[in-house]
Amino acid sequence: MTRITTILVVEDERLVQELISLYLEKESFKVITAWDGQEALDRVRTSQPDLILLDLMLPKIDGLSVCKEVRKTSSIPIIMLTSKGEELDRVLGLELGADDYITKPFSPKEMLARVKAVLRRSASNEQPSSNILRYPGLTLDFDAHRVELNGQELQMSPKEFDLLWFLAKHPGRVFSREKLLENVWDYDYYGDPRTVDTHVKRLREKLDTGSGLRYVKTVWGTGYKFEVS
Ligand code: CA
Repeated sequence: MTRITTILVVEDERLVQELISLYLEKESFKVITAWDGQEALDRVRTSQPDLILLDLMLPKIDGLSVCKEVRKTSSIPIIMLTSKGEELDRVLGLELGADDYITKPFSPKEMLARVKAVLRRSASNEQPSSNILRYPGLTLDFDAHRVELNGQELQMSPKEFDLLWFLAKHPGRVFSREKLLENVWDYDYYGDPRTVDTHVKRLREKLDTGSGLRYVKTVWGTGYKFEVS
């Protein structure tokens, strides 16, 4: 599967935003942008980036409030961008959940190094790169494309397996239909996001143990996540 790393750049100074985007794109990151805090929150919801570069002083909703809001539902890595003289210790001190911060002005090289370091750290917090995932009642073996539910092997289509594997590899993380199409269907899919719904429905039927234990959950208005209750 191709893994496209998407970075959301939230910055209201046009030049700074363009410069950051330019350098990130040069490193093959996919860049999306927002000019203010409200737009940032909308972008997080709709585009589900892998990392946010978040300016502290923003129109409408400031960076700290955006950070706090994002943290209510997501553990996506956040790097705050601060200017000299802004209250740096507030960023980390309030434990709003930013992963790192960069003080402006910064060199592109420093910015890229921080981005990569935070992405590396966040990847190592996810499930190990093991090809077997184990959850209560459920085992997934990537190499064998094998799913066992309470010790019974389940028959799955390759796409159903890929979808379940992708979700189960990121427990607790919410993915929009578009994001799932992009990651699981392996190309820029401009088809119908309801394809995802159809596959999720079939997955759920197969994973239904009758015990009320559910693995694939709907997050209303947003998408789906894997969670073992
Ligand atoms: Ca600003």
